[in-house]
Amino acid sequence: MAYAIPLWPQPALPVAGSDNSFPVRRIFCVGRNYVEHQKEMGGDGREQPFFFLKAAHTLVPRGGDVHYPPKTSNYHYETEMVVAIGKGGRRIEARKANEHIFGYAVGFDMTRRDLQQIGKDHGRPWDFGKDFDEGAPCGVLASAAKIGHPSKGAIWLNVNGKQRQKADLSDMIWSVPEQIAYLSEYYTLEPGDLIYSGTPAGVGPVKPGDELHAGVDGVGELKVRIVPAL
Ligand code: MN
Repeated sequence: MAYAIPLWPQPALPVAGSDNSFPVRRIFCVGRNYVEHQKEMGGDGREQPFFFLKAAHTLVPRGGDVHYPPKTSNYHYETEMVVAIGKGGRRIEARKANEHIFGYAVGFDMTRRDLQQIGKDHGRPWDFGKDFDEGAPCGVLASAAKIGHPSKGAIWLNVNGKQRQKADLSDMIWSVPEQIAYLSEYYTLEPGDLIYSGTPAGVGPVKPGDELHAGVDGVGELKVRIVPAL
């Protein structure tokens, strides 16, 4: 099969301890999944989580340099554990959800907070605030076969050496298996799908020159440097 324009590379993540990479199909993100973050975003701590998507080509595998994006003056980090779906399915039961997980990584759900706020204020989609070039840096995938299925342990972020986010995976309102169960009621999950599982409190703005260093215990780490806009 020939294409009328050159085919672009398949977005993919490196896999720790393997020469094979993990091809990425879709990126689902859960909103407001840690109580303290719900509160800082104006929620009451009881709101049900909800999802939005980012295009696969927003992925920045391994992190590294990330350009300050256009049309924002309030560009935020959100540190999240990323779940990689290895086996698809629909109406997956939470108690069986782990069987569908290939592995885990550390990711940043980068956000043009000012554009997201315009969407909220006018009842418009969040795409311009969330789904933009280089908006989904993600570290190396650790396979569940090697690390198991982390449900507790620290998730943290330092910006320029100063701690900005720190929580425990057990602080999630909806656990990873519950997220998979919920999402698979609405979508047929497919191999290659990623789920960004939500950010703890402490989100904030970054500017060119800032160095982000995040980690999830037992999963891995991710480093990003914000560089001037293209
Ligand atoms: Mn997020």
